Amino acid sequence: MQATDYDEFARGIAKLMLHADKRLSEARIELYWDRLSDVPIRTFEAAIPILIEQLNGFPKVPQIRKACDEAERRRQWRADQYVPDVDREGPFCVVCNDTGWVPGVTWAESYRAEVPCVRICACRAGNPVYRAKLGQAANALKPEGKYAGTLFTVRSD
Ligand SMILES: [Zn+2]
Repeated sequence: MQATDYDEFARGIAKLMLHADKRLSEARIELYWDRLSDVPIRTFEAAIPILIEQLNGFPKVPQIRKACDEAERRRQWRADQYVPDVDREGPFCVVCNDTGWVPGVTWAESYRAEVPCVRICACRAGNPVYRAKLGQAANALKPEGKYAGTLFTVRSD
């Protein structure tokens, strides 16, 4: 958190005070501010509903930090689940249409002509639609059985 985040931080603390029906002194709020200074404000804000859901009293600093971890895990989980709706939003990557391949042409000396070719699209690592297709393909390849499936590895590039 940065100095400009203080108002939002104070609003979060106010929500927790209201929930716990407890009033903190300015000095104690400052203490919480200092001890949570390394936490991004967005993470702190996301932790507030978790704290309200899990605790009755006003949380101690370690409890807030734990809830921040939880908020971060939930955010990461949602990010992992997120796959854009291609029909509605269009392809995630307009260069390769989420196929992972970019069509092009290359000069073939033996034909003395340009011939069609493909190259790997730069979006692959960060394209959730492409990654979802890769996941589906991996599941399709997986044979029956709990352990045999581990024989197959899917290249991620
Ligand atoms: Zn692409």
